[in-house]
Amino acid sequence: MEIIKDWDYFLQRSRQDFDAKFSQKFQNDINLNDFELLRTLGTGAFGRVRLVRWLNDGGYYAMKVLEKQRIVKYKQVEHTLNEKRILQAVKFPFVVSMKVGFYNNDYVFFVMEFVNGGELFSHLRRFGRFEENHTRFYVGQVILALEYLHFLDVVYRDLKPENILIDRNGYLKLTDMGFCKRIKGRTWTLCGTPEYLAPEVILSKGYGMSVDWWSLGILIYELAAGHPPFYAPNPMKIYEKIVAGKYKIPPHFGPDIKDLITNILQVDLTRRYGNLKNGVNDIKGHRFFRTIDWLSLVNQQMEPPFLPKIKDDGDPGNFEVYPEESLHESPHELFIKEFADY
Ligand code: AMP
Repeated sequence: MEIIKDWDYFLQRSRQDFDAKFSQKFQNDINLNDFELLRTLGTGAFGRVRLVRWLNDGGYYAMKVLEKQRIVKYKQVEHTLNEKRILQAVKFPFVVSMKVGFYNNDYVFFVMEFVNGGELFSHLRRFGRFEENHTRFYVGQVILALEYLHFLDVVYRDLKPENILIDRNGYLKLTDMGFCKRIKGRTWTLCGTPEYLAPEVILSKGYGMSVDWWSLGILIYELAAGHPPFYAPNPMKIYEKIVAGKYKIPPHFGPDIKDLITNILQVDLTRRYGNLKNGVNDIKGHRFFRTIDWLSLVNQQMEPPFLPKIKDDGDPGNFEVYPEESLHESPHELFIKEFADY
């Protein structure tokens, strides 16, 4: 892995790499027969992710399988194209990247690196909550990943512990670029996960990168508390609480984490950390992170809180078990027009 010595220079160079790959089309010399399909690792709103073995190099990968018919039915053609373009162009230690992609008559397939430690979500539920020191280590990586994506004009829009995976070395990787979008200025779509939605999304205001900083505030809270700050049995009630901006800080939170969360979970965009004139530096420079050396973190030179148990490269043991579904094959290519830009 490349050692990053100068963060600003790294970001500048990343933008050139990203632009060069963003609009590339799928190679069409790859097909499903090149893969041995193993078990399902997880399911999302519009598809599932399966562990596969690529016969070409013998390696294990995570393959996202999206059914064209479903994507069209739920009007996700544009979102999926955003996902594909961003996934193929990103290159960052804490963001999952795509090795290859292809489609057949019925499905679109994204073949990603297999991050074998499981979801941060499962580990959080197992621990109950993380110590502040551990929260700092994980959240620090998420901040760098968001800074990287925002520098490329990409808004992530679906931050939550289910979309954060733990690598074999105990470090994180963000997955699911399904709601990612490259924007200059504002966007309006209502998307994300109820507990993590920013007030400006709920209120159908045009929004930008600020929504990711809001969900970062929710994530910091959830990792340290074991539950999100705005919680109710149904989404409408959750939204009411979010737009009112009222939540309780658990008594065990120290003053630094409390101050950081309070400054991020600001309904008023002109007060929200991450969204002010110093941008991410208000967060990275906050006293909660004073023990973090950001270059050591990005270069994975800090000791992680724990290492996931992994038997071998293809061990899916850190992922829940899901009922399997077999893939179907139509005699003709479906939705040619809709997927012409892939
Ligand atoms: P998604 O539909 O992209 O949200 O993915 C659904 C689930 O699949 C995630 O919550 C993870 O549990 C799993 N998953 C996604 N990407 C990977 C990956 N690269 N490696 C391992 N598991 C993954």
